Amino acid sequence: MKKIVLFLVIALFSGCSNTVEPPLIKELKIIGDLVHSLSINMDDLSEHTISDNKHLAISLQDVFENNELKCEQYNVMFVANDTLTNLIESDYDEVLVYVKDNKWHIHSDVFPPTLNLKDVNHLMFIKKQPTADDGVTLFSVSEDKHLITVGNHMSYGFETVLKLDGVSTKNTQTMHAYQQKTILPLSKLSDATSFLVFSYQGDHQYLSNDIFLLKKDTSFDVVDEDFNILVFDVAGILEDPPAHSIMDLYYDSEYYISNNIPIMIILVDGLGYHQFEYAKNNNIAPTITSLNPKIATSVYTPVTNAGMAAMLSGQSPLNNGVLNRRFRQIKTTTIFDLAKQNNASAVLLEGNINILDLNVDVKLHLDSNGNGTSDDEIFDSALQRMNDVDVLMIHFHSFDDAGHRYGPLAPQTMNRLTMLDTMINELLESWSKTTIIVSDHGMHQTSEGGNHGLISHSDMIVPYFIIP
Ligand SMILES: [Zn+2]
Ligand SMILES: [Zn+2]
Repeated sequence: MKKIVLFLVIALFSGCSNTVEPPLIKELKIIGDLVHSLSINMDDLSEHTISDNKHLAISLQDVFENNELKCEQYNVMFVANDTLTNLIESDYDEVLVYVKDNKWHIHSDVFPPTLNLKDVNHLMFIKKQPTADDGVTLFSVSEDKHLITVGNHMSYGFETVLKLDGVSTKNTQTMHAYQQKTILPLSKLSDATSFLVFSYQGDHQYLSNDIFLLKKDTSFDVVDEDFNILVFDVAGILEDPPAHSIMDLYYDSEYYISNNIPIMIILVDGLGYHQFEYAKNNNIAPTITSLNPKIATSVYTPVTNAGMAAMLSGQSPLNNGVLNRRFRQIKTTTIFDLAKQNNASAVLLEGNINILDLNVDVKLHLDSNGNGTSDDEIFDSALQRMNDVDVLMIHFHSFDDAGHRYGPLAPQTMNRLTMLDTMINELLESWSKTTIIVSDHGMHQTSEGGNHGLISHSDMIVPYFIIP
C-alpha cells in the first residue's frame, strides 16, 4: 500500500515545475581538541552490513586514519540530537558511523547496545592527555591553574545562553531570532581583578575581569558581555598580570636613546622568573640576585625569535609580525632603528647565528676556545667594544642551552648562571651608564631536560632589571 502511495506522490510531483528535492544529508561534524574541525561526508562511506542490512558506513578507526590522527590519543563522544551523549575510549575499529533515512547513526556489535545512538548531531574528539597547545591555560605568575580545552570544557561550568541575533517584522508579526552560545565568565574560575590574554596569533591584551570565554568548535575566543570578540583564538590567560613586559625594553631604550644616554642591554636567553628565584634562594648568582628585578611577561610564542622581536619593537607578535621561529623580519620600528635616527652607534653581539634581520651591526661569535659556549667570546668582545658604542646589546645563549639539555633548575644549568653572573658583574663595573638585563622567555621541565614555547608560568614570566 505504502509503495502505491509513494508512486502516486512521485507521479503527481513529476509533472509539476516545483518538485520536492529529496533531502540531502549534511556532513557529520567532528569538533573538539583538534586544530580544525573535521567532518564525515557521504564520499567517505562504503557499504557495510549492520544487523543483516546493508548501509553506507565508515568505521571510527578509518575516520582517524583518513585525518592522520592517532586514535589512542583520543576519547570519542557521540552527541545525539535528543542530547543523549555517549563516550568511548578505545576499540574504534569496532564502531561504525552510518547513514539511514538521511540521518547519522552509531552502531557497534561489541559495545553495550546503548552505544547504538540514533540521529547523531556531532562527534567530539577529546584528547586523553591534552597539553597547553590544545586549549586555554589559565595561570598566575607562579602557577599553572587550569587547561581548558573544547574536549574538557564541560567540567568547567560553561553555560549555554541565547544571544539575540536580530528582529524581523512582516505586516504586524514580529520574530526574534537567537543564536546559542556556550560561554564561561572568567570570574567563575578566578578571583583576579584583571587579566592578560594571549592568543595563538600573538595578540597580547590587558583586560578587566568582566570577560567571558566563548567556546567554538575547536578553540575559544574572549568576548565581552555583548559577545563582541576581544581576543580571537585564545592560548592563555594570566591572572592579575604584572605591570611590566619584555616589550618595556623598547620604551625604556627609547627614553635613553632620545636623551643621548648610552645603554647596555644584556639578554640572558631563557631565564625564567622561577629560575631567578631558585638562584636567589640558593645563593647561586650573587650579582643579579642582589638586584631587584621587576616581574615581566614574555609574549606568545615564548621562543627566542618572538621574544627578541617583541622586546626590540615594543609590539606584540601579532603587531610586529614575528610569531615564532619561522619568522625573522620585524614589521615595526626597533630600538636599532631609533638609534640610527638619533645618530647613535649600535652593536649587537650574537652567538654563531643571527636570529632576526635587524638594522644593526651584528657581530657573530664562535666558540673559539672550544669550552662549549661562545658566551665567553661574546663577553670579551663586549669589554673591547664598550667604550665606542652608544647602544650595546649582548646576547648570552649558554643558560638556555643548558636549560634545554639538563632542565631549568639542574645544577649544570645553574652553574651556567653563576658563570654569566660573574661576567655580568664585570660588565656592570666596566660600564658606568644605564644597563637593562632582560630575558626572552623561561623554561619548563620535560622528561628529557627542559623546553619552552608553551603558555605556562615557567615559560612566560621573566625578570626584568633596570640599572640606571
Ligand atoms: Zn631564547
Ligand atoms: Zn631555547
